[in-house]
Order: sequence, then structure tokens, then C-alpha cells
Amino acid sequence: MQTTSLPETAASDALFERAKKVTPGGVNSPVRAFKAVGGTPRFIERAHGAYLIDVDGHAMIDYIGSWGPMILGHNHEAVREAISNALTNGTSYGAPSEGEVRLAELVTKLTGAEKVRFVNSGTEATMSALRLARGFTGRDFIVKFRGNYHGHADGLLVEAGSGLMTNADGLGRSAPSSAGVPHAYASLTLVADYNDPEGLRRLVAERGHEIAAIIFEPVVGNAGVLIPTPEFRAALHDAKRSGLLLIADEVMTGFRLSLKGACGVLGIEPDLMCWGKIIGGGLPVGAYGGRADVMDFVSPQGPVYQAGTLSGNPLAMAAGLAVLSELERDPGIYGRLDEYTSKLAEGLASAASEAGVPLAVNRVGSMLTGFFQAGPVTRYDEAARSDTAAFATWFREMLVRGVYWAPSQFESIFVSAAHGERELDSTLHAAVSAFATLGGA
Ligand code: PMP
Repeated sequence: MQTTSLPETAASDALFERAKKVTPGGVNSPVRAFKAVGGTPRFIERAHGAYLIDVDGHAMIDYIGSWGPMILGHNHEAVREAISNALTNGTSYGAPSEGEVRLAELVTKLTGAEKVRFVNSGTEATMSALRLARGFTGRDFIVKFRGNYHGHADGLLVEAGSGLMTNADGLGRSAPSSAGVPHAYASLTLVADYNDPEGLRRLVAERGHEIAAIIFEPVVGNAGVLIPTPEFRAALHDAKRSGLLLIADEVMTGFRLSLKGACGVLGIEPDLMCWGKIIGGGLPVGAYGGRADVMDFVSPQGPVYQAGTLSGNPLAMAAGLAVLSELERDPGIYGRLDEYTSKLAEGLASAASEAGVPLAVNRVGSMLTGFFQAGPVTRYDEAARSDTAAFATWFREMLVRGVYWAPSQFESIFVSAAHGERELDSTLHAAVSAFATLGGA
């Protein structure tokens, strides 16, 4: 197999060496370490529009968008201005402020949630929503799906996706997915298969009366992109009859697939929703919300405790408001994202087929995964059969050509409104030659 050597990365290499001495694995979140794809992670100096610029001066077309938040592109003027304006009034109050009310009003208006509570990450949002569901129903068990990822709270690191699919002990590891999660916690998490409606119906028929909530990604991004079938969506809805709550984890999909998230596009009606990423415009924000009768169980109104020193931070609220207002002002963005990403999907599929490389492309809106296998891929066990070695080579070949793809087979990529014709052409040009290096034909 002929491969291309990587360009000069001396400055990134030096920073990575320093970082490894003072931070586990040299990074503050595992997938950033390039462990699944090899090579040194690029250290980023700045970002603008559709590009990341690393410390060695390479400009790369960015398909991560900070793992989702950057739907408008990096360093967007409206967001930058909103943050600088907020900054003149101080950075944190520990007391309520108008920005929290305005963002909550906008989120409830756009999503149909009746009440929301802001936290600081997606992890906090899902963790808090589950505590709330347990407090509301008085039941202890929860259901999650194999390969879905909901952040790193103990009870959710059970057969989890995202970095756990490549950074733990390998695929198919049984519960729990991380050391340090007590089996007693994990035993309260029941695991089912995504897109297996019969399995879900059986589980709910047997144990529904003990289950507080089913948490799910309404479109999966963390096992690569998986799309829920109509039968599976119906099984989720029917599960509500046993008195459990449906929690849609829209941390990745919220405001990305539409102003109403994935649930809005797919007609799913959850009791609670969780958000993160886009809702904070690139600053650390998460939120959970939904039915008012359930949300009123949250402290200080109700008995379920949840708090945060920096929750509702004024800079973060300003950034979130700027992004959501921009999306609301110009909802045509979603059509443009869809058009770009569908051309990207077609281009990748034809480049792969030209080179004789099996590739199954799953796409919804501006989320996309090219699984290195013939497909189709609708379930976790199918996704896990992908050729991760071929993906790793392809990833490095793309990087060398200036395209920064998600550094794992089991992630979605994210397109932003700053990606245009020029980026599409360059990406597909790079893809044709990257696939050619793998060519089986
Ligand atoms: N839920 C989903 C669906 C996610 O994709 C993620 C992060 N990728 C999380 C929760 C956790 O969010 P955070 O990393 O902000 O804690």
C-alpha cells in the first residue's frame, strides 16, 4: 500500500511531548489523542470559518466543528460580538441575570420544552435528567442503547459509544465501559439494542414497571451515524405506557438537524430533552428540559437536587443566544447544510467505489459517517464490523491533504454554514486520492 508521508508537525510534536508530561495522554478529552488513527494530534492555534490552523501553520478544512457546536463556522462575527459585549459586564455573578431568561425563552419557544434548566456540559444535562426521571417516577432502573453515548456519568458508561468504542479495551466490551464504574451502578442501567424494536418491547414488557426512563440519541452520532427506523421510534413511544419517561439526548442533534432538533424532524415526542454543544455557541453550556410537571420536581421548586456555581454563566448565555438567534433569523441555513452534506456523501461514495473501497455512507442533515464496509449499517453491531485500519489510513491521507476529519471511525462529522463550494471541491479532490491509496481495485 502506497501512503504519503505526513507534513512537518514539529511544533505540534513538541507541544504533545510537553502535554504528555502534565496531562494524562496529553489531552483533555480522549478522542483528541489520535489513538485510533495514529500520528500526533495537531495543536490548534486558531480557527476561522471552516478552517482550523495548527501551530505549524497548516490550514485544515475542519469537519469536527469542536464536535458539533460550530454550526455557524468558527469565530463567527455575531458570536464574537455577543461575547465581547457580555464581557464588559463581568464574567460570572452567581446570581440570576437576564441572559438566562432570554435563552430559556428562546429554547422553549424553538423546541416545545415547557421549562429548561441550564448546566455546564452535555454530561451534566443527561446525568441531571436521569436523576429527575428517577425522582419523578420513584423508580431506579434506566435503559440505554448499546453504542449510544450520553457523557461520562457513572451509570451511563455502560456499553457506551464515542471514544469508548476505540479507546477502552476494544469493541463489544460488556458493561461497564470504564474502570472505576462500580458494578452496583452499572446494574441499574439496562442495555438494549438500537433499532431492535422487538428487543425493546420485550424488555419493557418484562421490566417496564421498574424503569424510570429510556435515554436515547434520536439520531445516533456516537457509533457513527445511525438512523432510527419507524418501527423503533414506535416502540419507544409505546414504552411510555408503562409510566417511564422518554429522554431524548439532543446534545449532538439539537439545533443541528433542525431548530426543533432530531425529534422535530422525526416526529418523536419525548418527555425530557437534553442539550449541549450548539446551545452554548462554543462555550461550556448544557441544558435539560421538557414537561413542566416533571421539571417542577427540580430544586428549589421540587425535591430533586441539582445546582452549579457557573450555571447560566453570562458569557455562555450570550454566545448561545447569538447562535440560536442567527439560526432562527436564517433557517435557510439548514437547507444549505443539507445540500453541502448530501453532495459530500455522494462524492465520497463515488470516490470510494471508483477506488474499489467498500464504503457505507450514513447521513442525516449535516451529520455524516462513512463506514469502511459494504453496509448497510443500521445497528451498533453492524457499525462495529467496519475496517478501522483502512479508516485510520484514509484519515491520515486526508489530513496530509489538509482535511481534518473526525479521528475515529465511530463518530459523526459536522458540516458548518461556513463550508462552501471551495471546501467541497478540495475535500472531494483529497478524498479521491486518499481512497486511491487504499484502492482494492
Ligand atoms: N450526549 C451526546 C449525544 C453527546 O454526543 C455528548 C458528547 N459528544 C454528550 C452527551 C456529552 O456532552 P459533553 O461532552 O458536553 O459532556
